[in-house]
Amino acid sequence: MEYISTRGDLRKYSASQAIIRGLCEDGGLFVPEQFPTLGMPVGKLVGKGYKEVAYEVLRLFLTDYTEEELKDCINKAYDSKFDTELIAPLAKHGDQYFLELFHGRTIAFKDMALSILPHLLTCALKKNNIREKVIIMTATSGDTGKAALEAFADVENTKIIVFYPKGGVSRIQERQMVTQRGNNTKVVGVLGNFDDCQSAVKRMFSDEALNDELSTAGYRFSSANSINIGRLIPQVAYYAYAYVKMVEMGAISEGEELNFTVPTGNFGNILAAFYAKNIGIPVGKLICASNENKVLYDFFQTGVYDKNRDFILTTSPSMDILISSNLERLIYHSLGNDAKANAALMRDLAEKGRYEVGSAMKYMDDFAGIWATEDNVKDTIKAVYDKCGYIIDTHTAVAAFADMKYKDTDNRTSVVVSTASPYKFMASVLAAIDVSLVSDDDFAMAEELSKVSKVPIPKAVSDLKGAKILHDKVCSVEEMKGQVESMLV
Ligand SMILES: *Cc1c(COP(=O)(O)O)cnc(C)c1O
Repeated sequence: MEYISTRGDLRKYSASQAIIRGLCEDGGLFVPEQFPTLGMPVGKLVGKGYKEVAYEVLRLFLTDYTEEELKDCINKAYDSKFDTELIAPLAKHGDQYFLELFHGRTIAFKDMALSILPHLLTCALKKNNIREKVIIMTATSGDTGKAALEAFADVENTKIIVFYPKGGVSRIQERQMVTQRGNNTKVVGVLGNFDDCQSAVKRMFSDEALNDELSTAGYRFSSANSINIGRLIPQVAYYAYAYVKMVEMGAISEGEELNFTVPTGNFGNILAAFYAKNIGIPVGKLICASNENKVLYDFFQTGVYDKNRDFILTTSPSMDILISSNLERLIYHSLGNDAKANAALMRDLAEKGRYEVGSAMKYMDDFAGIWATEDNVKDTIKAVYDKCGYIIDTHTAVAAFADMKYKDTDNRTSVVVSTASPYKFMASVLAAIDVSLVSDDDFAMAEELSKVSKVPIPKAVSDLKGAKILHDKVCSVEEMKGQVESMLV
């Protein structure tokens, strides 16, 4: 199995090489040349644990890793970092099923893939005889930075530097990052907004002088962002696992089609569900749930992708995105793997901020778009709580709303993909349930949430209380490069 670009570069790369590179040189994304198939009836996976299912999925895509290497990566990733051995439990509340992807260290679904990425990456470096150490560099608006820090902390042959906009992330997010342990981690606040951080990071990635300097010191840059196949492929595993769990629970019979409703921003999570379908997991419809930044909903309705619109700040900030990078992979596959046609559309996106696809898009019928207003989100959190005492976060609520709405038109069983713990977005969640519980004190809110939800406060939150501040660097945009250089020792 080899990987090629969505934009026409015909060079082929093994999975491990694609993971090291992250992005193709022509600006495209790596895609498998063709979809592999599970090669066994899905029923064969029934009764297996998370790691075993993950192995059966990963081995199809990451074919240049040996069995021993893959199992080693999986074992290191899905261990006691997660607060349940199930890793991704499936829960029924009321008449909805929830796939809980927030049991990792930072209580959101990015942990699912970021827990394994460092191991896939360091293994890839060894396999390809690359002796340089890696510097992971990330600009973050809050969540990804912390998940990447936790993932790479104390991983051999790696260092990680995270830049965040000083004053531009939530209190709890900043606290999570500046208390980060690990002697290979560095966190820097930047006097600027997220776009300033992101642009400076992009410039440094392609700064030749800086790259030479790194190379001389025995380092190279890498990124941990969601377009890396090392993040995408591990996400396919939990869709296979969810299917298996639904069969085990008797919610569906083996072979029956199952729908998934996914709260979507960058389109990585839902694309993994699409990949699961294409390897032979009996997946029916993929319901793409958007918040008020409903660029994807409009796209599925009209075939026009148009990011020229106001950016709306919502209570589901991880979905406040107007350019869904991973959608490019779906476009490419839907065009019958036509890289030229895809590249033309992506050029339109870069130049005009919009593109239009024709009607002959092969996979469009696999998807349905639904969006939720801020009121819908609030009402859904309250309704689910009143009905079953279960508290969902704001992102999950976007999906739960969409799931409910879509059910009217399709009688297949569906699973709501739950991407964050309510403890991650306490103020918005408590405001939906009982506004009098909202306060300025995060730990007081955690106590309240624990009382109403009867779910103990997760370690990710309680550990923050009294945690020592280990990172206090603040710099201007111009000084960011110097911060990177200071790591080359
Ligand atoms: C990142 C994120 C999403 C969006 O996932 P994509 O893969 O970017 O579509 C949804 N919910 C939460 C909590 C997230 O952190």
